[in-house]
Amino acid sequence: MPDRPAQSITRRDFLNGVPLAIGGAVAGGLWPGLIAPGLAADAAPQDAVGYYPPALTGLRGSHPGAFEAAHRLRDGDFWSQAGGIKQTGETYDLIVVGAGISGLAAAHFWRQRHAGARILILDNHDDFGGHAKRNEFTLGGKVELINGGTLLIDSPKPYSAVADGLLKTLGIDPVALSEKCWRRDFYSSLGLRRGIFLDKETFGADHLIVAADGTSWAERLAHSPLSPQAQADIARIEEAAIDYMPGLTSDEKKRRLAKMSYRDFLLDVAKADPGVVAFYQARTHGEWGVGIDAVAALEVWAFRFPGFQGLHLKPGAAPGQGFTAAGYADDGGSYTFHFPDGNASIARLLVRDLIPDAVPGTSAEDVVTARIDYAKLDRATSPVCLRLSSTAVRVRNVGDPASAKEVEIAYARGGAVYSVRATACVLACWNMIIPYLCPDLPEPQKQGLRYGVKTPLIYANVGLSNWRAFKALGVSRVHAPGAYFSSVSLNFVVDIGDYAGPRAPDEPMLIRLVRTPCQTGLPERDQNRAGQHDILNTSFETFERHIRDQLNRILGPGGFDADRDIAAITVNRWPHGYAYEYNPLFDPDWPDGQAPHVIGRARFGRIAIANSDAGAAAYTDSAIDQAYRAVQELA
Ligand SMILES: Cc1cc2nc3c(=O)[nH]c(=O)nc-3n(C[C@H](O)[C@H](O)[C@H](O)COP(=O)(O)OP(=O)(O)OC[C@H]3O[C@@H](n4cnc5c(N)ncnc54)[C@H](O)[C@@H]3O)c2cc1C
Repeated sequence: MPDRPAQSITRRDFLNGVPLAIGGAVAGGLWPGLIAPGLAADAAPQDAVGYYPPALTGLRGSHPGAFEAAHRLRDGDFWSQAGGIKQTGETYDLIVVGAGISGLAAAHFWRQRHAGARILILDNHDDFGGHAKRNEFTLGGKVELINGGTLLIDSPKPYSAVADGLLKTLGIDPVALSEKCWRRDFYSSLGLRRGIFLDKETFGADHLIVAADGTSWAERLAHSPLSPQAQADIARIEEAAIDYMPGLTSDEKKRRLAKMSYRDFLLDVAKADPGVVAFYQARTHGEWGVGIDAVAALEVWAFRFPGFQGLHLKPGAAPGQGFTAAGYADDGGSYTFHFPDGNASIARLLVRDLIPDAVPGTSAEDVVTARIDYAKLDRATSPVCLRLSSTAVRVRNVGDPASAKEVEIAYARGGAVYSVRATACVLACWNMIIPYLCPDLPEPQKQGLRYGVKTPLIYANVGLSNWRAFKALGVSRVHAPGAYFSSVSLNFVVDIGDYAGPRAPDEPMLIRLVRTPCQTGLPERDQNRAGQHDILNTSFETFERHIRDQLNRILGPGGFDADRDIAAITVNRWPHGYAYEYNPLFDPDWPDGQAPHVIGRARFGRIAIANSDAGAAAYTDSAIDQAYRAVQELA
């Protein structure tokens, strides 16, 4: 998408991506070079006084300093620049690479089997949780929370006994918490609805549609810049119950819908005017990370997209179709619950389980406001050590994989490379890096690991001094199909433990803007590759400019002024976001056991492979299930 015309930025709140308005909790903000001020070169940044990454702003997610070593490894120039390896002499029962929910869960399951086991967990980021990351803002003197990545407990299928059991062990009862804490109808009780913003570059004029109750689609679209034919066809697609595939059984329809994009369904089956495509193009961005050109019609049917009302499809995925989001249609999926920091609370509870004195408190409710003591995460006296800012660069069985008794892991931190050993290793990192870590893997396994391309996403969280403009316009979330960010939403309202969500429009509020930098027209994996490149080559200033421009244009008519109302910005970059899920439009129907992720996750000597990639499913329950399987394999 071409850059929008620059909106002039009249007030400079940001210095090197760190807003001056609220500042990070740590002097120096981003720990340049990953060495904390005042610490020796070998010292861990996480031991610095005041180290508290959730409060950092600017570029987060894949933050500067997190990915450079891995990219040098990929590019083949890591070892030539590495110097020697420092032997730490440290040995563990288990080393886990990746402190996302899968890695933390693997450590938990291991300790369930082996009480008192010594475990080291490595992660390249300056905070744990992987995608399940917490963003904290201090606005008007109060700490406001929002997820930097993983939004909520939710899956197309019910949580397995393993994943559900882990939640229960951690004290999480999603059904009870949801009922007690989540004010799902708060915004609707204020009369706020969903909006759709049509931007002038795509549609000819800036225009906000508010999906007010009791209005027909013809009324909603009447004053929009869409052509009369496009308006009529959108109203038909949204409201009419027409069987566009007469004479076919439900299964026959579903087989066809599984192999046709939603775009093709709208144009070729529902015979809609081409002008409707731009209106629906980005509707799939949040869930799939690509537009309607690259998502199967059957998948979006399961998400209640319009156009299928008259087809009378029976619940369930298409016959013979493997795991897809269409599973939601079977039984509505899992229970759902949103912690104020998303599933970062699950990660924090796992860390409490593994290193109790680092995370004060005793319940799933009090963990939300618990202040983690990062200096306690990696201590020689603790059976479990969580070492941040540490990128694994080599993982190998000591000796023949078939008979190896030990694994040696080299990791890079702060410009040096260190070696540690363990009797077993779980790689709970991303599939695509594993062939670089373990070049001795069999070639077919490496190919399996390389097959999936993770979905890139941006979650930009913005602190506002008030949200009066949303109230004035009558919207709580706005979908913007042609704009740089395809959605803008007010933060969920959740009251849990000592934490209370926002209430009055005059009070500060966090909002989230989502961008999925896909390249319409390419196969999904190529769109993902292009988007990853896009994300890492976009500066904070560019994100900021788009945020200000887009919010002014959507909310300006409600009195919003970016210069006055924006207090802070955190842009969470996830170039390697959702695990790749097979796409019936582009991927073959693999025979049982032959799917690339299944071939890729095979145990290799004392090394087992976890992570949601290993389940080819971008959900927390998959991350947990895969951790359990990996630990079982090493047992
Ligand atoms: C923006 C976003 C929103 C999401 N929303 C949801 C949601 O609402 N619900 C849901 O169920 N799922 C959601 N997901 C999917 C989410 O990925 C899973 O839920 C789950 O958190 C994945 O956990 P994981 O441990 O498998 O992987 P990750 O969270 O990716 O953790 C893997 C960790 O390994 C690290 N790592 C990689 N290579 C190395 C190395 N060489 N050395 C050291 N560390 C390494 C990574 O940096 C990362 O920190 C979302 C994902 C994203 C990106």
